[in-house]
Amino acid sequence: MTRLLVDAHQDLAWNMLTFGRDYTRSAAETRRREAGSLAVQVNGDTLLGYPDYLRGSVALVFATLFAAPARAKSGEWDRQVYADSDRARQLYSNQLEAYNRLVERASDKFNLVRTARDLEAVLSAWRGPDEGKAKLPVGLVPLMEGGDGLRNLDELSGWWERGVHLIGPAWMATKFCGGTREPGPLTQEGHALLDAMAGMGFTLDLSHMDWAAAREALGIYEGPIIASHSNALRQVKDGEGNRFLPDDVIEGIVEHEGVIGVVPFNRFLVQTWTISDRREACSLEMVAAQIDYICQKAGNAQHAGFGSDFDGGFGLQQVPPEIDTIADLHKLVPLLAARGYNEADINAVFGGNWINHLRKSLPAT
Ligand SMILES: [Zn+2]
Repeated sequence: MTRLLVDAHQDLAWNMLTFGRDYTRSAAETRRREAGSLAVQVNGDTLLGYPDYLRGSVALVFATLFAAPARAKSGEWDRQVYADSDRARQLYSNQLEAYNRLVERASDKFNLVRTARDLEAVLSAWRGPDEGKAKLPVGLVPLMEGGDGLRNLDELSGWWERGVHLIGPAWMATKFCGGTREPGPLTQEGHALLDAMAGMGFTLDLSHMDWAAAREALGIYEGPIIASHSNALRQVKDGEGNRFLPDDVIEGIVEHEGVIGVVPFNRFLVQTWTISDRREACSLEMVAAQIDYICQKAGNAQHAGFGSDFDGGFGLQQVPPEIDTIADLHKLVPLLAARGYNEADINAVFGGNWINHLRKSLPAT
């Protein structure tokens, strides 16, 4: 049986709406079309596309809704930024609409996964009798990255109805909590958000939350908890800063039966790496070490997965040299096997753990 791969973090809509990227095309085709363009200059060559998902047996992708606050604007090209909550809501909503249009236009290639029933439909296609022959849709699981898409808590139910069941309250700091490069605890609004999210059954994504906020959340949140795209601080060479997970937060996520998606991004493997360094300074072995670190902390292989963040501010030029597209993550199989992981462990890390999480946490219908 095919080893399915699940990726818990890709900013597809942000790329679709910023650069006009069309993920029904292969990564190679997109690279040809974009050669010399601004998209490549500011976000690198794409690592993603439907034919590559197919080659890599990528059955599910957590597809983000993401916009940045205006203070993080990177240039004139960077248009999906917000200065106020009305604009934020509009941008997040536009991205969900972009996914709706994609699955309408290319229903043979992409389906939205809003419920456990949608999930099983996608999985049964990949595991069905026509495996390898039938049209295999990649399931897109919407994930809100950055809580400023919510103007107020009354809007939570609207997002739930539209199929968004996972929320990461932070990117940089938001009105709910401290975030990357902007530390701070949960605010009063953040506490109210977590209460409301838990009451409805939302998954809380701790990635980008400052440690103070993440620690508070681990103490009080009664719903499911994950880190969709975060590496372990102590396994990042020269790693420092709150974008990485300290050991106690990893242990807390494990206690909550959550899953952590590791990120094969060079600067999240060797923090001092820059784009002028050789890609060879990083390696897939370092990604295997990240996975192993989380599994060793947990004492089993049930809490690690992938959250590649591919195309989320970096591309081909900034990942280990073994990776040309997402399909190359399968090159980790022998590296994990060499570390003593058996077939069941490897399948769990590649997709089983995220699938279990979604089975437990998505609404039935
Ligand atoms: Zn992110």
